[in-house]
Amino acid sequence: MEAASEVVLHGEFGAAGTRAARYALTLTRGELHVQRLSPRPEDDRRLVLPLRHVLECRPLARAAGGGQPREVGGGEGVPEEEEMAAHFALYCYPPRKRKVMGSARGRQRLVKTFRVDSAPSRQENQAVAERWATAIKCLLLGIQLPGEGDGSYLSTAAITASLLPKPRRLLLFVNPRSGRSLAMSYCEKHILPMILEANISYNLICTEYQNHARELIQSIELCEWDGIVIVSGDGLLYEVINGLMERPDWEKAIEMPVGILPAGSGNAVAAAINHNAGYGMAMGEELLVNCTLLLCRGLTSPMDLVSVTTVSGRRHFSFLSVAWGFVADVDIESERYRSVGAARFSVGTLMCLASLRRYRGRLSYLPTAFRAKRLLCRSVTTSADAPPAAPHRPLGRALSETGLWSGAPDSPSPFLACENFSFEGPSLPGEEEEGEGREPHPRPEGESQEAGGDAGCRTPSGESSGLPEDTLLPPLEQPVPPHWETVEGDFVLVLAIYQTHLGADLMAAPFARFSEHCLHLCYVRAGISRRALLRLFLAMEKGTHFSLECPHLFCVPALAFRLEPLSPHGILTVDGEQVEYGPLQAQVHGGMARLITGVPANTNGL
Ligand code: ADP
Ligand code: MG
Repeated sequence: MEAASEVVLHGEFGAAGTRAARYALTLTRGELHVQRLSPRPEDDRRLVLPLRHVLECRPLARAAGGGQPREVGGGEGVPEEEEMAAHFALYCYPPRKRKVMGSARGRQRLVKTFRVDSAPSRQENQAVAERWATAIKCLLLGIQLPGEGDGSYLSTAAITASLLPKPRRLLLFVNPRSGRSLAMSYCEKHILPMILEANISYNLICTEYQNHARELIQSIELCEWDGIVIVSGDGLLYEVINGLMERPDWEKAIEMPVGILPAGSGNAVAAAINHNAGYGMAMGEELLVNCTLLLCRGLTSPMDLVSVTTVSGRRHFSFLSVAWGFVADVDIESERYRSVGAARFSVGTLMCLASLRRYRGRLSYLPTAFRAKRLLCRSVTTSADAPPAAPHRPLGRALSETGLWSGAPDSPSPFLACENFSFEGPSLPGEEEEGEGREPHPRPEGESQEAGGDAGCRTPSGESSGLPEDTLLPPLEQPVPPHWETVEGDFVLVLAIYQTHLGADLMAAPFARFSEHCLHLCYVRAGISRRALLRLFLAMEKGTHFSLECPHLFCVPALAFRLEPLSPHGILTVDGEQVEYGPLQAQVHGGMARLITGVPANTNGL
């Protein structure tokens, strides 16, 4: 029998508030089947409730003095029908069947309360109610049920509340300025009611200025919290991660589970979490409710961090991207359209397309080929369709030709980099053909090239500050090791990305995973037409841009890289935050952080 369909519990219950209705409930590992037995039995029509839509299940407490059971979450009062009965309630957020006028698509809140009344004593009924609530909660939280995993039969009698962990405590940082400044209203409308319903306690801190959260993180007692959650865009998560890494006890601190509830204009990590859970693309409040549901589950996954060293020696710990050229320009230059939320990126994309710039630079990297299987490399070169030696070929095209990677969003990561994909040498032939790029606009005089308030973690050169060592990187002033690959020329963009998403509707690296100990180094060479670039960005919504076989697009998995801009002006971002312009280098530190993803690590969906 399939593990997901294995029956965990079965029982007959009444419905709260009505004596007549009776239901047969069957709980499997992935679903709750509800079949009505009376008043009208419906053999063929049963409600199947996937557990991934369930936020919480608990037995209802009985009021002191034997009164009515207390409904937590409000609204669904349960009349006392008989003294002996006990109750348990399920709090669910299934997707709406159709869009309701005036409200976001997304999910609706549904509470189902069942009456347990088969046993002659109230005590026995209460035990059954507790067993059901505990079993469902264990399945939601990924907790093994008694007997599970050791080959013996599931012991239902041993399913008691003692299996459950103590309620979690979360520290919430809310950035009231993120996105369209709706973070606080999202808290009131969705986040806090759901968190309370899931029996999670919290402290909410509304940030007052940039780097406020980063400062506060220095003095929190780690043992008081089960997670730090930000309600904002990726920028506030960047503060939290770097704040944790600035603590003297960073090794312990960075193990603190971090979560993100999207309220910003750039919600890449939230979109990656949503995608990883198997949910379809979502934006706005729909994405927020999906992520809150997953946050309440609490399951975590290791997440790679990338240590980025900028020209002054500052270190930044990054979880999303390093960008130069088009992507960084769109991000920073669209800041002034913040009031339109995520749409600012569409506006910015069109603006930057209109004045398409090219940037001269040198990109060096250590490909994962040094660790990856040569077998895979050989299968590329010997494939019937792929010519044996194809230098300067875009990875997407080469892979789709070999049939090793279809380019479909859920295809596994193309852990491929071999001699075939070496990009050394002069600019590509034909690169200049369309000639639409031009030098970037110089910055107005006096305008800082550094991000406001961008503190970084300063490391005196050559000295260990106790932070994780970048063992793959030579000092920035020395040449890269000879076994690194180098590509030099004019670029439209360079993007090192290590999440699937670059924005809520931009699946830039569909093959990325939270922890794969490598980053994906994507770049677009100059010479691409505006139309082709626009096509790439439009295809990115579904993550199919690599299938377009654009000859200017390249992507290689790498362990480390160095970017040396040769154009005097430009914008560099780390996780969407502007950093000082100049040479920078970076190295992956596999699985250093813990991200609350709501699903077991290394699985797609529940
Ligand atoms: P968005 O996705 O809308 O850009 P972010 O979470 O990225 O939202 O936040 C944008 C910037 O705001 C980040 O640089 C963050 O550090 C900063 N920030 C955090 N709290 C505040 C605050 N209270 N006031 C102003 N800026 C803040
Ligand atoms: Mg941001």
